[in-house]
Amino acid sequence: MPIFEYQCNKCGHKMEFLEKSGNKNKHVCEKCGSSDTQKLFSGFAVGQSSKTSDSCPTGTCPLS
Ligand SMILES: [Zn+2]
Repeated sequence: MPIFEYQCNKCGHKMEFLEKSGNKNKHVCEKCGSSDTQKLFSGFAVGQSSKTSDSCPTGTCPLS
């Protein structure tokens, strides 16, 4: 089951949600209660490249 990362546009709090197919529920910030959240794309990440291998810029190298 895919996990998506969301960020609150109001307070900047990040959270993760399991997203079942067909589930169109709106996610609400668990910190400030705002429903103004945007989905982040973890894995392909925007600003999170430090998590992936830094010795393989192409991402095609086999994992050691
Ligand atoms: Zn918030």
